Amino acid sequence: MAEQSGPTMAQAQANLESLQRIFTIPESSGATLAQIDAAISNNLDGFLRQHIVAIEKDLSEIETAFNSAVIPEQPYYVSDYTDFILKDLVSQSVHTSSPGFVGHMTSALPYFMLPLSKIVTALNQNLVKVETSKAFTPLERQVLGMLHRLIFQAEDGFYQQWLHDSEYALGAFCSGGTVANITALWSARNRLLGEGNIARKGLFGALQQANLKGLAILVSRRGHYSLAKAADLLGVGRDNLIAIDTDGDYRVNMLAMRERAAQLQEEGMGILSVVGLAGATETGSVDPLDELADLSEELGAHFHVDAAWGGATLFSDKHRSLLKGIERADSVTIDAHKQFYVPMGAGMVLFKEPGTLNSIEHHAEYIIRKGSKDLGSHTLEGSRPGMALLVHAGLNIIGRKGYELLIDQGMDKAAYFAAAIDAHPDFELVVEPRLNILGYRYCPASLQQRLQAELPEVKQKINAVLDRITSRIQKAQRAAGKTFVSRTRVDCHRYGDEVITVFRVVLANPLTDHEVLDQVLEQQLELAEHPEIQALLADIDSL
Ligand SMILES: *Cc1c(COP(=O)(O)O)cnc(C)c1O
Repeated sequence: MAEQSGPTMAQAQANLESLQRIFTIPESSGATLAQIDAAISNNLDGFLRQHIVAIEKDLSEIETAFNSAVIPEQPYYVSDYTDFILKDLVSQSVHTSSPGFVGHMTSALPYFMLPLSKIVTALNQNLVKVETSKAFTPLERQVLGMLHRLIFQAEDGFYQQWLHDSEYALGAFCSGGTVANITALWSARNRLLGEGNIARKGLFGALQQANLKGLAILVSRRGHYSLAKAADLLGVGRDNLIAIDTDGDYRVNMLAMRERAAQLQEEGMGILSVVGLAGATETGSVDPLDELADLSEELGAHFHVDAAWGGATLFSDKHRSLLKGIERADSVTIDAHKQFYVPMGAGMVLFKEPGTLNSIEHHAEYIIRKGSKDLGSHTLEGSRPGMALLVHAGLNIIGRKGYELLIDQGMDKAAYFAAAIDAHPDFELVVEPRLNILGYRYCPASLQQRLQAELPEVKQKINAVLDRITSRIQKAQRAAGKTFVSRTRVDCHRYGDEVITVFRVVLANPLTDHEVLDQVLEQQLELAEHPEIQALLADIDSL
């Protein structure tokens, strides 16, 4: 890389000329930044291994490097700044692409996402309007069309007609599943109450006119917390996000939902939406989508499917049928920054009918004018980056077959890991993997037997201690830094619907192999030997 000589930012003390330079060419002291850039490009895994320190520091200790609120008066040398990046920031970040990091939905990225991300930054397109994005606008519409087709399988003629029709939108590209869910429910609300009414008069006037006491959203207990944010923002109210119980497989109980819907309608509430989950965040469960579609039709309610996680399962010939019924949804959320292996900040909501998003359409005079092709007229967000390029790249470079392979191997690994847990006497599989997410806990065989026989009060006490054991092992494993699982709380039907703490494992990292998974269990068994855990187990014996 050509290094420039001449005054650096710091030497020149912020004169205009040197300020202009940093917008065009790197200053000579940018060399370390260029080295980091090269190291990341040449050997990302090596860079992360070298620079992320595996030993966990307490966050309060890390905060000491970030405790000044003063904006530096004088310019810095870029090289000084990169010292800070390596020493204080990268070293204490999380190695999310590590094969042993199987606790969350964030994993490794294909290498081409790095240079492509740089191109997105370099071009700095703003997708809100054509005047700042040009070719990126049809690109984004194409990506939305591809996803629409993956879900709804409409005829070719449908896409010929709608793909680039500026009056309509097959979906909205956004920063993630949260905004996608909000957008879906926003359009459902406006359609239910008449877009002219609600958008202009506000919720109170529109409800009065519709003769409704309020609105309700129905979803299983396993619904993502973003739905609660949506209920709050849209004026529905969190209390009216109705959480329905699930069956032994963490799928929504249809009978309970049907009864609750009838009851709400009787009370004068409008059913804003029935929401189905295709890959619940904590359990990976998939609701009976066909039955939910039937219910939505009966109720005349918008049917939304949150497939932020599980949507990518549609790539797999073998597993696609698990999501049967998704094609009947009015709207579907999919996160590309999860199982499409795109960097953070890429979500989408797709609408079956091209006119649905018109219910939230907004225009302004200087941009997103009526009749323009500006994408900003159909999105919640304003300025947005050209992330669609990264999704487009994944779809082209990895392709349907490639994604199928990624999905299938994740499912196979989940099945392998579930079998390993099941086969081990001291682990108890609690959440069986329906997709590639599962839950389990450390619970010695003798205790598993005892739990079957005990009275409810004793069971509860035993489970409370086991919860503490699970938490301790999870924290100790995270601190040791070799492998990582997360933890959550789920209802356990085996023990009378008690809510218990479990290790949560998400198997989407292509670099994770069986050996790593065996190590996860071995390390947990080692950690269970710790005197503190043994003391807790002794406590249980005396219960
Ligand atoms: C991840 C997730 C979301 C939220 O997506 P963000 O991208 O984190 O905003 C919503 N629903 C489900 C089921 C998810 O897994």
